[in-house]
Parts: sequence; structure tokens; C-alpha cells
Amino acid sequence: MAEYTDAHGDGTAERMPELSDEEDMDDEEQWQWTEEDSQPVTCLFCDRLLNCVPAVLQHCTAEHQLDLVNVVRKHRLDDYGYIKMINFIRSTRCSPSCLMGLPDGPLPWEGEKFLRPVLQDDPLLQTDPEELCSRDDPCSSTRSSSTPESRDALLRRAQTAEERARSSEEALARAMEDLHKLKLLAQGLVLNADTSKSGNLGPVAELREDEDEAYFSSYGHHGIHEEMLKDKVRTESYRDFMYSNPEVFRDKVVLDVGCGTGILSMFAAKAGAKKVIAVDQSEIIYQAMDIVRSNHLEDIVTLIKGRIEDIKLPVEKVDIIISEWMGYFLLFESMLDSVLHAKDLYLVDGGSVYPDLCNISLVAVGDAQKHQERIAFWDDVYGFNMACMKKAVVPEAVVEVVNKDTLISEPTVIQTFDCNTVCLSELEFTTDFCLKMIATTDCTAIVGYFDIFFDKGCSNKVKFSTGPQVTKTHWKQTVFLLEKPLFVQAGEELRGRITVRKNKKDPRSLVVTLDLGDRKQTYCLQ
Ligand code: SAH
Repeated sequence: MAEYTDAHGDGTAERMPELSDEEDMDDEEQWQWTEEDSQPVTCLFCDRLLNCVPAVLQHCTAEHQLDLVNVVRKHRLDDYGYIKMINFIRSTRCSPSCLMGLPDGPLPWEGEKFLRPVLQDDPLLQTDPEELCSRDDPCSSTRSSSTPESRDALLRRAQTAEERARSSEEALARAMEDLHKLKLLAQGLVLNADTSKSGNLGPVAELREDEDEAYFSSYGHHGIHEEMLKDKVRTESYRDFMYSNPEVFRDKVVLDVGCGTGILSMFAAKAGAKKVIAVDQSEIIYQAMDIVRSNHLEDIVTLIKGRIEDIKLPVEKVDIIISEWMGYFLLFESMLDSVLHAKDLYLVDGGSVYPDLCNISLVAVGDAQKHQERIAFWDDVYGFNMACMKKAVVPEAVVEVVNKDTLISEPTVIQTFDCNTVCLSELEFTTDFCLKMIATTDCTAIVGYFDIFFDKGCSNKVKFSTGPQVTKTHWKQTVFLLEKPLFVQAGEELRGRITVRKNKKDPRSLVVTLDLGDRKQTYCLQ
């Protein structure tokens, strides 16, 4: 709402006519007077035109015995109440006595319709009722608004408003700049996601400790270590490799990346290692400390709590790195990143990483029953069509033990790594594959698994497989369900392409894309 207007715009009252002068003027004189100085205001109760709002108020008091300010105060009118009252008076032409006699309680101008101005650009509507009430005498206040003191106040207020506007403009400019930066960042992310297909990645080593907390806390619990230790295929393979190749370990300095309970470190110590440095970031290492002492191996095995990427080893170089880093579908967890990091930093020239060779393989599965349970199930759920759920179900790769009787193709190796030579960028890859079918049936899924080899310099080579054809391990298999079964014939070669990459949002999880001719599906493994 507008302030009381300074009729002259120059803040002076010199030319402000006295009430008596004004009243003496006829309408034409007033009009001429006001035309150059301010907008004329029609009285609320008669047709008199006055030169400004205070003049109207004075006129109302003098001529109609109605003090508008008192009415505003009496009914505690806010902006809207005041506007409605003005429009009510103008539209109903109610008398001053009727207005003064209004009791407390519901007012006759409550309705929204009185918000609509009766007179166009009514100056009375541009007056702030609070302002009216804060002045004892509206007339004198008009005059006082022209005093230097009040003009100063007005000026200060104007300055403050100007400053506020300026700082808002600056804040807006900063927000626009941030928005621009965000846009660039988003573009960068999209580009990054695209280029990742060609193999460039964000290594796990770059994760901050807090970002990786959940991962390590999952290894803090004894349950997961119990499961791994009880996986005989896994643990006995490591043991057999070390015990049956003592020449590899004799008098060697060994680094165990991610020692967990310390089992591999103790195998290495028993196999003849001179010194074993066992590192783990998870809390399980405190148990490992007890375990090593309980087995009187503390002189050989040194345990260090921390991320291999963050700690400093007490030795400059090691001869051998052992680690059990494999995740589902081999690369899930991305722990191989950490092993390769340790290799680059600590492995002596000519040293070895064990296990050294690993394969990833695919095989086709025809399991109509499983497919029905998982996918077709959504077509009719208690009589309702929930087929849209398939779009959420299919992309989640399933880790489970696959019945070997459901295999319908020969397996095919899609990738081989040698941990002594592989580099980080090779852990994301795209490769073509071909599955030779051995049955005529519907293919319902493609299954992935890996094989591990302890090979380099071993007189007794050891290997184990996590495939569905052999004894199950805790890695089970990784199942990529096809949304629609694919009819295949024995002898047919099903050609496809697979892309494996890290999830940009979580480098420990994987994104796998399978391209089978006209079908393409992306799966996540998490
Ligand atoms: N070697 C043990 C445990 C294997 S599980 C065994 O064979 O039973 C993997 C272990 O590696 C977990 O305990 C996990 O906490 C640890 N680990 C994974 N990444 C690591 C890293 N970057 N630094 C230190 N420890 C790590």
C-alpha cells in the first residue's frame, strides 16, 4: 500500500492549501490545483473532489462527522478489511452514521465482492490502514510527512528497499551461475556415462573412506567370514595352492590384501613365508589379531587395520600378493581394483599375485518353470495384470544356484584376466560371444560365473570353478533373465555381445548389458 503521498513530490508543504482555503475553492479550482500536483480523491460520502487522501479524511471529519481512522481502529481492519470497507461505502453509499453505528462482530463488507474497486485508481485504496492508525491526526501527519525528519525516514526506507533489491539481484545472479555449473556437471556426467562404455573408469581407490563405510562394515560381521570359510571349494583351493607349492612361499614376504579372519595369511605362514603382512579395513581384523596370536603366528604375521590404498606398509616391497577379492560374476565389489593398486605400489619386480588367472563364462539356460515363477507370474496376480512389474524385475540380475540340468548350451569364456598383467581399464569391457546350443527349447536366461587358477610358477597348479556344472560355492551363479523366452535349436549358435562396466553411482556394483540380436537388456548387479 502506498504511503501518504507527498502532494508536491518535493517533500515540502509550502503550497499545501489550508483546509479552509481548500474548502473555499470550487471544484474547478480544486481540479486545476490538483491536476499538476496529485490525483483528486472523491469523498466517501458526497461528490466532493479533494486533492489528496489526508484532505478527504479531514473533510470527512469536518463535514460528515466521521473519523475514518477511528472506524479502522475500532474494527481492527487489516489491508483487506480496509479495502473492502472503502468499496462497501462507495458501492452502498452508506451514511456516516450507519458506518459509525456498526457494532463489533460480523461486518457488512465481509464478502469477497467488496475487494473489487468501485472507483478506478481510487487513491483511498492505495492508503495503508496501518499507516493511518499509526498517526494520531491524519491531517497533521500529512503535513509532518513533509517535514525533513519524516522525509529522512522515508529516504532511509527507500534506501533499505533499494539495498534489499540489489542483494536479491546478486543472489539471483549467483543462483543462475550455480544453475549453469550444475548444467555443465550434468552434461559431464552424461558424457562420462557414455565414455565408460569404451572402458575408462573411476577406481574404487578414489572412493572416500566414508563412502566405502557400508562395504567394510558388511565385512565386520562374523557371519560373512563363516560363510566364506565354510565354502570348502574356495578355502581349500587357497590352502592346497599354498601347501602344495611351498617353493613359491619359502622365505618370501607376502602381502594379504583383505585378510579377514587371517586364514590366507596363516596358510602362507605355514607354507614357509618369512613374513606376512595382513591388511583389512573392516573390524574383523581385531578377531584376526587374536586368531593369529592363538595360533602362535604373531612373529610371522603382522596385521594392519586400514584400507590398502590408505595405509603405509612397514616394508617397501613384497614378493607375493595373495587375496581373495572375487565377487559375484567375478568383478562385483571391485576389490580387484585394490589388489592391482597394491601390486603397482608394493610388488617387487618379478613378484607374483595369486590367484593369477581368472575366466568369466556364460552359458544358456532353459528353465520354463523358473521363468514362469519370476516373470509370467506378473501377468496374472490374483486375477490382476501386474505385467508392468516385469520392467523392474528383469533388470535385476539374480544370484542363485542354477540347476545344471537346465543348461541348454555349451559354456563360453567371454573374458580372461591375468592379475599379474591386467590393468584397471580392462576390468570394464565389451565382447562378442557365441553360445552353441545343445537343446531345442526356449532359452529363458543367460547365466554367468567365473573360474580361478593358481598357475604362475606352480609345480602343483590349483583351480576351481563357480560354474553350475560343479560343486556350488558361496558365489553361486549370476542369472540374467530374458523378459521373453527365446526359442533355440540344438546345434544353433546364439550370438551376442556383452558389456560389463561399473555403476557410475556405485563403483562397487556392476552394470551388464546383454545384446542378443534384436533383444537388448541392461542388468544391474547390486
Ligand atoms: N581373506 C579373507 C577374507 C576375504 S573377504 C578370507 O579369504 O577369508 C575380503 C576382505 O577384504 C574383507 O574382509 C574386506 O574388509 C577386505 N577388504 C576389501 N577391500 C579392502 C581394501 N581396499 N583394503 C583393506 N581391506 C579390504
